[in-house]
Amino acid sequence: MKILVTGGAGFIGSAVVRCLLSDEQHSVISLDKLTYAGNLESIPASLQSDRYSFECVDICDAQALGRVFDEQQPDIVMHLAAESHVDRSIDGPGEFIQTNVVGTYTLLEASRKYWLQLEGEKKEGFRFHHISTDEVYGDLPHPDEQGGNLPLFTEETSYAPSSPYSASKASSDHLVRAWLRTYGLPTVVTNCSNNYGPYHFPEKLIPHVILNALAGKLLPVYGDGSQIRDWLYVEDHARALVEVATNGRIGETYNIGGHNEKRNIEVVHTICDLLEELVPEKPNNIGFYRSLITFVKDRPGHDVRYAIDASKIDKELGWKPQETFESGMRKTVQWYLDNSWWWKRVLSGDYRLDRIGDKG
Ligand code: NAD
Repeated sequence: MKILVTGGAGFIGSAVVRCLLSDEQHSVISLDKLTYAGNLESIPASLQSDRYSFECVDICDAQALGRVFDEQQPDIVMHLAAESHVDRSIDGPGEFIQTNVVGTYTLLEASRKYWLQLEGEKKEGFRFHHISTDEVYGDLPHPDEQGGNLPLFTEETSYAPSSPYSASKASSDHLVRAWLRTYGLPTVVTNCSNNYGPYHFPEKLIPHVILNALAGKLLPVYGDGSQIRDWLYVEDHARALVEVATNGRIGETYNIGGHNEKRNIEVVHTICDLLEELVPEKPNNIGFYRSLITFVKDRPGHDVRYAIDASKIDKELGWKPQETFESGMRKTVQWYLDNSWWWKRVLSGDYRLDRIGDKG
């Protein structure tokens, strides 16, 4: 299959590209604007592969998208390009509306135009897979406030987004479903919980904590750290996405989660404890990594709990996460220890310098 991956230089998009390239039956066109979050160094395998090409394109640019579809003739579109950081959406929501809403609309229209002129098996087989988040559902009751069996997000949960980020993603999900219902564009949607793993941009909780701890800097935790997220190892997510894109049923939504509900403070403790074991020699004469934890003012509108019921994708497509929270976190911390070349270039900004030659 020839698969167009938007946001292919981002955290999850690059994991999808690496996953696709590991299977000889696929070729990949990675399409990315290369914002601060895009990093071509996250796909080392692309350097040796003749099944990989890169297009430096903004998904809001209809003309450039039209050219890519004409030239590349993809079988499947996997749409991951987005502005993705909640804190940034609170400081500046405009970019989120532009990329996540207008960009998704522009990509849908380019895909529809392309799909309409396809014929036969190529038209039959075409899929537009929209990758979204569980944050569109808002939040769930927290065990500190409600006892008994706590609910999970299912594919039928109503939308109730809290942040500009999740509201923009919810809007894009609605657009995708409308393009199926109104125009018949063969779409499928996935909503996933929080990801973690290799090549994660250091502004997000887990890499931020690992790198601050290694530098002996404070580890900021929002509020009292009791917010619960359902953590999924990014390579498990990438496998699920490839499964849905290639075998998912048109018009369906699949929730994807890791069955790993953890409080933010538990996540930070886990990282500190792994570092105690793996890097016992600490910087700045600190006694324990946990002593760096500092509680900071909570984020406005902060959702208290997310948790996914992932039984549908398991039942229909046989997908299950392979990593537990413990094994995934150990792999992640070890990856950051072994790959300082990657995150040092991100922190210094050097990963952006070599891009001109890559824009091809
Ligand atoms: P990311 O921020 O790491 O990557 C986004 C990529 O999109 C970057 O490479 C960026 O350069 C590119 N991009 C941004 N604006 C663009 C534009 N206008 N045109 C073309 N490319 C553009 O994000 P991520 O964490 O990899 O998330 C990927 C997708 O998965 C997003 O749609 C996000 O909503 C969704 N998601 C993320 C998580 C998570 O935990 N990170 C969980 C569930 C769903």
